[in-house]
Amino acid sequence: MDNFVYEALPTRVIFGAGKLETLAAEVSRLGSKALVLCTPEQKSAAHEAAQMLGALSVGIFDRATMHVPIETARAAQSEASRLGADVYVAIGGGSTTGLGKAIALESGKPIVCVPTTYAGSEMTPIWGLTENGVKKTGRDIKVLPRTVIYDPTLTLSLPTTLSATSGMNAIAHSVEALYSQNRNPIVSLMAEESIRSLARSLPRVVQEPKNLEARSEALYGAWLAGISLGSVGMALHHKLCHTLGGSFNLPHAEVHTVIIPHVTAYNRDAAPEAMRRIAAALGQSDAAEGLFQLELTLGTPTKLSDLRMKQEDLDLAAELASQNPYYNPRPVTRGGIRALLEDAFFGNHPR
Ligand code: NAD
Repeated sequence: MDNFVYEALPTRVIFGAGKLETLAAEVSRLGSKALVLCTPEQKSAAHEAAQMLGALSVGIFDRATMHVPIETARAAQSEASRLGADVYVAIGGGSTTGLGKAIALESGKPIVCVPTTYAGSEMTPIWGLTENGVKKTGRDIKVLPRTVIYDPTLTLSLPTTLSATSGMNAIAHSVEALYSQNRNPIVSLMAEESIRSLARSLPRVVQEPKNLEARSEALYGAWLAGISLGSVGMALHHKLCHTLGGSFNLPHAEVHTVIIPHVTAYNRDAAPEAMRRIAAALGQSDAAEGLFQLELTLGTPTKLSDLRMKQEDLDLAAELASQNPYYNPRPVTRGGIRALLEDAFFGNHPR
């Protein structure tokens, strides 16, 4: 067995249908004046949370949006100061969690997170902020939510298309964790189990969006994927998706979905043990083709051309993604990335 370092991230997790009911008790462990954060689309969920908090709630900030614009973070920060908030409750997907992290980075105050997608940000100390169109990211343990309440009933309303792509986004974290430079046996167990849970549950979620058992298993898989993302380094897939999302303004979960089978194929020969485990978790003989088949079953987008990417931008994308050498099991070359992007653009089967 190879030597390894394993560092557990200290988050308290409450999991189960109906567990939003523990929100007031969980918040009162950390503070007494909670500001509830949400997107404009999830105001009603935030109101329900604020009602459950009763006197512990000092207000709702409902302007969370994708990629955390610095102006939004500043507005939320000044609202939190005005109201004297000493704890933030983030109820929503990665965008809402991201807003909570941005203000916690500044203030050091704790976050109680109630995730409603499968993005996994609640399990990571990674923050992101967008200023003048450029997204900066960093790691700081201050932004890791102290408590996470996973209540699958809150995911029943997640549209099936977003459920499928958000679930593939989670699977992508686990795929890269299995061939990470600093992978370790504990996180690999979680990553493999996460792929198994998501591959089993997502087709049921898409067929029967109100099936609570399927929703629970998907959220469990997403939790494990989030731990994988937060615990070990990512590689080509995350770099490429960051480039495509940031430079060409493509939607987050969909880009992850379209790209992951092709990056898996790119790394096929360089990471055979990871491939064996991914394929086994998918119940398929080949990891990359197994991911592609799962996407066909879920009916997700499989082409970059469907995500408003322009063919003439593929050269620039390959150039940007191959700059600044970074770890990947197979060396990253401009030509290799260009071929991968070509396959992803046309929705070819992974090579
Ligand atoms: P999102 O948070 O932007 O949510 C997408 C939309 O779905 C929003 O309108 C939201 O209100 C709505 N929604 C969420 N849950 C819902 C539900 N249960 N029912 C109905 N509507 C619901 O999307 P996301 O994919 O969760 O997050 C993407 C963002 O998270 C990106 O900016 C990405 O960079 C970031 N992210 C960060 C990390 C990290 O570790 N820092 C990890 C993963 C993602």
